[in-house]
Amino acid sequence: MVVSSIAVLVTLLVLPLGSHQLGATTSYVPAVLAAVACFDIMSVWLLAGEYLDSGDRRMLGMSLAYLWSLLVMGGYALAFPGVVSSHPPLAVTASVAPYLYIGWHAGFPVLLGAAWGPWAFLERVEHRRRSTVLICSAAAMSAVALLSVAGCVLYARQLPVLIHGLDTSAMARVTAPVALPLVVASLLMCARAVRGRSGPERWSSVAILVCLCDLLLTYSSRYRYSMGWYTGRTLTVMASAIVLLAMLASFRRLKATAEFNAAYDGLTGLANRRSAYDSLAAMIARAKRTHSTLGVVMFDLDRFKQINDGHGHAAGDEVLRSVAATLRDTVRDTDICARVGGEEFVVLLPDAGLRDARQVAERLRAQLRERQIPAIGCSVTASFGVAELRPDDATAENLLHRADQAMYRAKGLGRDQVADRPAEAVRSDPVLAP
Ligand code: GH3
Ligand code: MG
Ligand code: MG
Repeated sequence: MVVSSIAVLVTLLVLPLGSHQLGATTSYVPAVLAAVACFDIMSVWLLAGEYLDSGDRRMLGMSLAYLWSLLVMGGYALAFPGVVSSHPPLAVTASVAPYLYIGWHAGFPVLLGAAWGPWAFLERVEHRRRSTVLICSAAAMSAVALLSVAGCVLYARQLPVLIHGLDTSAMARVTAPVALPLVVASLLMCARAVRGRSGPERWSSVAILVCLCDLLLTYSSRYRYSMGWYTGRTLTVMASAIVLLAMLASFRRLKATAEFNAAYDGLTGLANRRSAYDSLAAMIARAKRTHSTLGVVMFDLDRFKQINDGHGHAAGDEVLRSVAATLRDTVRDTDICARVGGEEFVVLLPDAGLRDARQVAERLRAQLRERQIPAIGCSVTASFGVAELRPDDATAENLLHRADQAMYRAKGLGRDQVADRPAEAVRSDPVLAP
């Protein structure tokens, strides 16, 4: 909305002054074309990748629109004096530039809008056919674009001259009645189709609107190197970058989500097993360096299977969320709480010894017993095992293993209690020997 408003506002402000001459700047057009080429190449690549991942034909259509823009713009670069050389090379005459300009500036928004047309785009392409469809469509689009450029170049002398010196008013008279209605129709079609979409592709309607503003300014400016002409070229860069910038912003959001999902448990929002291990390894290193203590509380809900069986899985999930909330309310901000298994949790307590860990576990046990969970109409209990870091603990596994064994002792002793040492049977384990 903001970008559309800026483009419309700039157009309205510049329109009355459009034909005011500013003078030729030889580096301006090459700079614009280079920027647009970079944006087009990246957009073609990312949208084609999006199509290959999703099979959405609209992404393919958008990618082809950018490919058209890139190739026809290449022809325009050859025809525009001063871009490739001071005179158009390869027998290209300067009078061809307006045709290529219109092919590029009207063709791109029309193709972008066509990607959102109601025709046969709803079905997704099957996975195994996607790359073949992509290669064939890209080859067909390239052939059409290159033949169009070649046709303009070859038949330039037979075509009406649309530019006289710097005067482009003939171009506006001949092409505007066709180009403007087509671009407006594309804009309406696209705006209707992207409504309700949340991905970066919804920005294609803004790109078409900016293209329309660019065309209006160019047509009304009447002269090359006028104020409207320069503003139009600036909007060209904006139009080509909009969808790309939206895609890059969405990648940043996806990356943040992926990083969150890799470290946190989706159901409870607590740290997951992997990040608990990473945190514990870092805490052990710190404790050894600073000669401080480190405690661990591990607990497992009692008879949780019965809750699932009796009240359903959704109620079981609600219990897990409630336990996570109790955990957050009970421990300090500097402690780390994690869900390390189905109904198994761990609390890492920096600067805490075995006694402190036991206290925390007892507090948690009491809180769990107290908290009524509406989904099951009662509270839950858990069995706790606690352990503290020993000087000979080489890895996080040793410490967690002792807490785990203590927890099984608490289960064996009748559940709903805290144990701080393993059961007799596992005493002989050399890792756990005092
Ligand atoms: P114990 O007192 O010996 O620990 O008995 P228990 O029933 O709690 O232990 P058990 O390991 O037999 O059951 C764990 C259950 O946890 C089984 C599994 O269906 C359930 N579970 C694991 N992950 C989830 C989850 O994400 N949501 C729900 N609702 N249940 C889960
Ligand atoms: Mg259990
Ligand atoms: Mg369990």
